[in-house]
Amino acid sequence: MAATPATVLAINGGSSSLKFAVDRLGVPNTRSLLGKLEGVGAGSTTLTWSGASGERGEERFTARAHGSGVRFFLDWLEARPEFATVQAVGHRVVHGMQRSEPVRITPEILDELRSAVPFAPQHLPLEIETIEMMRNRHPDLPQVACFDTAFHAAMPIVARLLPIPRRYFEKGVRRYGFHGLSYEFLLEELARVAGREAANGRVILAHLGNGASLAAVKGGASLDTSMGFTPAAGLVMGTRAGDLDPGVAPYLATSEAMTPARFQNLVNDESGLLGVSEISSDVRELLACEASDVRAAQALALFCHQARKWVGAFAAALGGLDTLVFSAGIGENSASIRARVCEGLEFLGIELQEDRNAANAPVISTDAARVKVRVIATQEERMIVRSVSRLLGLEAPPTRSPS
Ligand code: ADP
Repeated sequence: MAATPATVLAINGGSSSLKFAVDRLGVPNTRSLLGKLEGVGAGSTTLTWSGASGERGEERFTARAHGSGVRFFLDWLEARPEFATVQAVGHRVVHGMQRSEPVRITPEILDELRSAVPFAPQHLPLEIETIEMMRNRHPDLPQVACFDTAFHAAMPIVARLLPIPRRYFEKGVRRYGFHGLSYEFLLEELARVAGREAANGRVILAHLGNGASLAAVKGGASLDTSMGFTPAAGLVMGTRAGDLDPGVAPYLATSEAMTPARFQNLVNDESGLLGVSEISSDVRELLACEASDVRAAQALALFCHQARKWVGAFAAALGGLDTLVFSAGIGENSASIRARVCEGLEFLGIELQEDRNAANAPVISTDAARVKVRVIATQEERMIVRSVSRLLGLEAPPTRSPS
């Protein structure tokens, strides 16, 4: 009998979108299905997908709520031949509290996730709903939670403490940090392409997408990260404010009678590049009009100024810098933003080579520069598949090339 390739389904769900991948197991992993569900909750929802041999498709439907979007997706997936090969399902879960590893989902783990909802009220309920729907339809399929916070769980206490009364730390009000799956993937890739020594050195990982954060990593461990108690903290983002003076909240509560829910909405959905530019949260759109609209130019300047400050701060926290990695939508694709972020950082040993940067080359620094600046495409879904495979013993960890 011909062996059917075993696969893992990775689900990376957001508030209005859901990315998925079905990856074949084995070394190297190969992908059998990749796709995205967009516009859930809006008038029109789209499911786009591509298969192993290059075939592509698009389905349009209406999903007014997360649950109906996931139901449509599962109906569609279950009818596909790839689904018969799925041996386990891995979910990106935004918050794992103090957990430092992925975990197989049991009824007890689901209870634990429910108790963590107040820490991530915008994301966790949707993620739990997806897990429960999958569990109801396929109770025998093992499911694994891969936490976005896990990578940072062992950060030093100075990175985890928020400077408010200590009793709140005990109640869980602390810096957790996010984008952990992306960071873990980038570090593994760094070890693969540049060797263990580079990955164990002093590294800054810059995940610059709609959501954006940076992490300071040494010896393969997270030392500090820009996101905090929630993913709204740190660097200015597409629609999120990032770090704000704590005085802004009570000022708005008093002057505009702003409720906590309205404030959440303001700092998560209406701020950042969108709020400052009043045009768009999308860097491509802002780049296209910055020459003629000062608001777009200022929003981009703010983003680059802040990112540069985080690089400087983390280089100080690391006691120097060996590698800077740019990743995610902006970090992987925008030579112009990378150049602006690195401008003036020659004193740290950062020097970009223009043609390499323009080509989004794997290494964009000059040969003489002390700091290697790299571009690495992040793949959170692939990290989920790797984590599930390792936890459930579905495959041996991939071997790494030494250099
Ligand atoms: P998400 O956090 O939603 O996964 P992405 O990682 O896809 O976000 O990043 C989206 C951001 O990347 C947007 O601001 C988009 O404009 C930007 N981006 C994508 N491609 C380019 C490009 N070629 N040049 C500049 N910005 C880009």
